[in-house]
Amino acid sequence: MLTNEYVKRVYDQVQKRDGDQPEFLQAVYEVLDTLQPVIAKHPEYEANGVLERLVEPERVVKFRVAWVDDAGKVQVNRGYRVQFNSAIGPYKGGLRFHPTVNEGVIKFLGFEQILKNSLTTLPMGGGKGGSDFDPKGKSDAEVMRFCQAFMTELNRHIGQFTDVPAGDINVGAREIGYLFGQYKRIRNEYSGVLTGKGLEFGGSLARTEATGYGLCYYTAEALRVLKNDSFEGKTVVISGSGNVAIFATEKAQELGAKVVTASDSNGYVYDPDGIKLDIVKDIKLGHRGRIKEYAERVPGAEYHEGCAGVWTVPCDIALPCATQNEIDEASAEALVKNGCKVVCEGANMPSTPEAIAVYQKNGLLYGPAKAANAGGVAVSGLEMSQNSYRLSWTFEETDAKLKSIMESIVAESLAAAKEYGEEGDLMAGANIAGFVKVANAMVAQGIL
Ligand code: GLU
Repeated sequence: MLTNEYVKRVYDQVQKRDGDQPEFLQAVYEVLDTLQPVIAKHPEYEANGVLERLVEPERVVKFRVAWVDDAGKVQVNRGYRVQFNSAIGPYKGGLRFHPTVNEGVIKFLGFEQILKNSLTTLPMGGGKGGSDFDPKGKSDAEVMRFCQAFMTELNRHIGQFTDVPAGDINVGAREIGYLFGQYKRIRNEYSGVLTGKGLEFGGSLARTEATGYGLCYYTAEALRVLKNDSFEGKTVVISGSGNVAIFATEKAQELGAKVVTASDSNGYVYDPDGIKLDIVKDIKLGHRGRIKEYAERVPGAEYHEGCAGVWTVPCDIALPCATQNEIDEASAEALVKNGCKVVCEGANMPSTPEAIAVYQKNGLLYGPAKAANAGGVAVSGLEMSQNSYRLSWTFEETDAKLKSIMESIVAESLAAAKEYGEEGDLMAGANIAGFVKVANAMVAQGIL
């Protein structure tokens, strides 16, 4: 609950201005709520208007993306880039291509990215972008033409020292390749302006795996420190079947867990013997198929229509890796009822506020997205370093750096939580630790 006068005033203003952006309001409320003890202790943040500046993007770019489909018909999509905060580095954050994308969704993602990027300890500000373009069912040539049209406008707003986009939902190696090619063509400049690039043209080893692997490193470390426990022998429910889910499954299996589910926007599969990841990879990475196919190919596996049902599968650990608000109060209660003790988030904001309240009431270990899924952007930051050095590190070297960053995020979060009287609270700790660094930089740089 918001009780601090300054915090309340800032939130009321956001509500007045952005009342039509529910996801953004949700993300802001959670952060402001947990920052209250920090604000109370540091009057300089109010004196310097840090919060009212933090909730207002430095810049929002919204543009038309016109392209021609395979049938020769003109298509028009909306493109966005929200340059939210550059206090600690150039804007950094992914691009999402999905029909649900609108300004409020990109703003919530960009806002989360500010604190997430700060937590990685690397010098990256917060940004996010995307389009309501739906790549599902589009040909390669259509995706290429769309990406070229998108970059034709975006290129003037970004740059290796200004704003460095990457992937997010539906933006992977294929899209980043097309986007990079078009940037290079227009600017006649070969630079690390995007991350998540192919290995042949400046990409980093372990970037593809980073979000999923990082999620498991974070979860394993939180389990070790807070519960003296591990993944070994645990049953894990994972939602999604994209890049995050696939590599979270791979690492969880490697750490001795049994992952029993995978899902997409149509439904979920349950495999009591443990998910065969090579089949999921073949379906999703091989031919962009639907997860239903898994149950047709694997004897003993079941397919269920509707993706929310995945939260009714009994488990010890749940790793939501699909999308925002995929776990509501009823799903959180089903998880708890069936024995789940840990929820760590691979997707951005996958739990509604009511679901988080259920975790807290029942004493679950809850690892919030901006900490638990920071591995993706962390390795993006390492990709930027490698591009600047003009060299590349081995997989082992990059993976080891990722692991140590995820472990330090757990330590940083717990230390911040303790300092402000919220001992053991990974959510409050992540918000506070991420915020303090950005806030101090904003104070030091003056009123901008
Ligand atoms: N989209 C990812 C995220 O949500 C990665 C962003 C990046 O690598 O810039 O953090």
